[in-house]
Amino acid sequence: MDATPYDLIIIGGGPAGLTAGIYACRARMKTLLIEKMMPGGQIMITDWVENYPGFPEGIAGAELAERFSRQAEAFGLETAYEEVVSIRPAGDMKEVVLTDKSLYAKTLIIATGAFARKLGIPGEDAFYGRGVSFCATCDAPFFRDKTVVAIGGGDTAVQESLYLTRFVDRVFLVHRRDQLRATRILQERALSNPKITMVWDSVPEAILGGEQGLAAVKVRNVKTNETKDLAADGCFIWIGITPHTAFIKDTLALDEHGFIIVNERMETSVPGVFACGDARNTPLRQVATAVGDAAIAAVAAEHYLTM
Ligand SMILES: Cc1cc2nc3c(=O)[nH]c(=O)nc-3n(C[C@H](O)[C@H](O)[C@H](O)COP(=O)(O)OP(=O)(O)OC[C@H]3O[C@@H](n4cnc5c(N)ncnc54)[C@H](O)[C@@H]3O)c2cc1C
Repeated sequence: MDATPYDLIIIGGGPAGLTAGIYACRARMKTLLIEKMMPGGQIMITDWVENYPGFPEGIAGAELAERFSRQAEAFGLETAYEEVVSIRPAGDMKEVVLTDKSLYAKTLIIATGAFARKLGIPGEDAFYGRGVSFCATCDAPFFRDKTVVAIGGGDTAVQESLYLTRFVDRVFLVHRRDQLRATRILQERALSNPKITMVWDSVPEAILGGEQGLAAVKVRNVKTNETKDLAADGCFIWIGITPHTAFIKDTLALDEHGFIIVNERMETSVPGVFACGDARNTPLRQVATAVGDAAIAAVAAEHYLTM
């Protein structure tokens, strides 16, 4: 890492951060991308992406991530594997605070994405890694020929439940309403899949089990108030996401759910700081929208430098 200030530091190496890196390097900005884990973000835990244009047969999430990274590297993107713990304005610069030092840049792009939201019910933490999972790609093979409960009704819950059916015997898909929120094509596939049993109008109340691991998920019907225990070996939770923005909550304006507030140029409440992808307030959190945001943010950062 270079001690001299960067034109741009991008925080987060998912689809948004890597796309911003491609645009910034092509604009010959001195750019550093900081990623706390590995490049790729959430698509690393996505089995199959079939709605990102350019891949008519679909593409494995990990391969798409690898292609984004390779393309960014080809334009010379410098990457550091560190966690950013805070950012603050420092005169004309922005200070990016890491665990053991600070780096400085004229502009920042926050592309820190989001992580799976928890249910907050008894047993969820106790059985995490022993039956409770947020990632089908990582854990589905552990449940071969078994029964699992999946919670949620959006695109991710339905797509990932369909993926689970390649391994498991049966998926109870628990949704709090009487119809799914997911895209119609996914609904049709789920409703016609003999391995998926819908549990409508129901919310999970507790995850039950013992020494041997998870044994059942207690659900309550929101219309009748009746409860029942769905006997299962695993429980996959896909009820939405929480943004990775705690580290900037004192610096940037966030909405009531913690997403970064930006305008149509991806400008945040602090001049020279931009945000894009799942971490920002947006009506749709997908790879296609993340990369679109990122292109706008990188070009806006470039314009900011020449103002
Ligand atoms: C199971 C699943 C299936 C999905 N399926 C699809 C699909 O089929 N099609 C589709 O279009 N979208 C899908 N999505 C959504 C898609 O993955 C996201 O919209 C997209 O990844 C958002 O990109 P992003 O770069 O904004 O954020 P992310 O992908 O979340 O990447 C953010 C990155 O920032 C890093 N980071 C966070 N905080 C810090 C910090 N403080 N310091 C340094 N680094 C940090 C993280 O480690 C992460 O790598 C799916 C998501 C999931 C979870």
